[in-house]
Amino acid sequence: MSATETTRFERAAQIEATDVDLVGQMKAEVRSQSDQDKTYTVDLQEKSCTCPDHVFRGTTCKHMARCANLIGMFELPEN
Ligand SMILES: [Zn+2]
Repeated sequence: MSATETTRFERAAQIEATDVDLVGQMKAEVRSQSDQDKTYTVDLQEKSCTCPDHVFRGTTCKHMARCANLIGMFELPEN
């Protein structure tokens, strides 16, 4: 795991569970932490998220990591 990924997963762990709205099995709406009026749509089946981090860099963003964590697919590091 790279240092960048570690930081991203640490940030994922900081997303409040109440800011994640699970929609069905593999999808969720996640409220943006920088802009509370904005939500991003995560689709774990498609491995996609509508946030700029994923759209422009193609990375596993913190939203995807947090959603996968909430449905028990993925362990996040403890804070
Ligand atoms: Zn995202």
